[in-house]
Amino acid sequence: MQPVFRFAPSPNGLLHLGHAFSALLNEELAARFDGRLLLRIEDIDVGRTRTEFVAAIREDLDWLGIRFHGEPRRQSEHFDDYRAAASRLRERGLLFRCACTRGELAAAVGPLAPRDPDGTPLYPGTCRRCVPAPERPHAERLAMDRALAAAGGPVVRTLFDAQGRETHVACDPARWGDAVLVRKDVPTSYHLSVVLDDAVQGVTHVVRGKDLEAATDLHRLLQTLLGLPAPRCLHHDLVTDDTGEKLAKSRFSKPLREWRREGAAPEDIRRMLGFGQKPMPRT
Ligand code: GLU
Repeated sequence: MQPVFRFAPSPNGLLHLGHAFSALLNEELAARFDGRLLLRIEDIDVGRTRTEFVAAIREDLDWLGIRFHGEPRRQSEHFDDYRAAASRLRERGLLFRCACTRGELAAAVGPLAPRDPDGTPLYPGTCRRCVPAPERPHAERLAMDRALAAAGGPVVRTLFDAQGRETHVACDPARWGDAVLVRKDVPTSYHLSVVLDDAVQGVTHVVRGKDLEAATDLHRLLQTLLGLPAPRCLHHDLVTDDTGEKLAKSRFSKPLREWRREGAAPEDIRRMLGFGQKPMPRT
């Protein structure tokens, strides 16, 4: 079976060197393993997505010389798929409605509450004890204890390296607590969409930053519950700025097109990020 890789940016800003690194590593590994590289536009966040960012992302990737197989999958066109996946979890009693607001949650847990790997306080269980009326705006959370029981055994993830060697690591999805799988504003969440899309797109190899490594534990649990295949993962180091901080849109890291405006060529970006010539697929 031909390996399938994907690069999955969110169009809520412009690409910076961190995205370029991730895209180039996907390109390099896809070429090395004779795989296909797909593009996915992760635009469930309809409030923050802008069409001009989608166009800019595609243009920047094109400028870098990265070629993708087929047309990109846009998550906002597949909300029905995510609704169907959520229904399957709901029918098994694995989701519960949560009407808590951010303010209520902050007040309920206090400053010293244990946090999930993203730094969000673990859900204190408020709406498990007192079910909100269906007409109140609500999210849906995974009932982690029931989900772990339904998984029926340990959840394991498979890592791969650039030489294709594989290792297996035990997952700890419980550290995410009762994670939100269906947001209040859209009928899905990053975690639910990503596992569905990876399965629909036939992704076999996930290459993304270390900042998403912990999310893989939750993704593996969802894949187990939904009966979806488990891609192998490689979580790469993050590109940092000269203060050692990771590049981020929220920190206004210099966009790729700014480098371009200042005269950098695609080869300069490739070289700066440690990539050689554009890899040629083996024939
Ligand atoms: N859309 C995510 C981001 O831009 C990446 C998701 C993934 O690779 O799983 O950070």
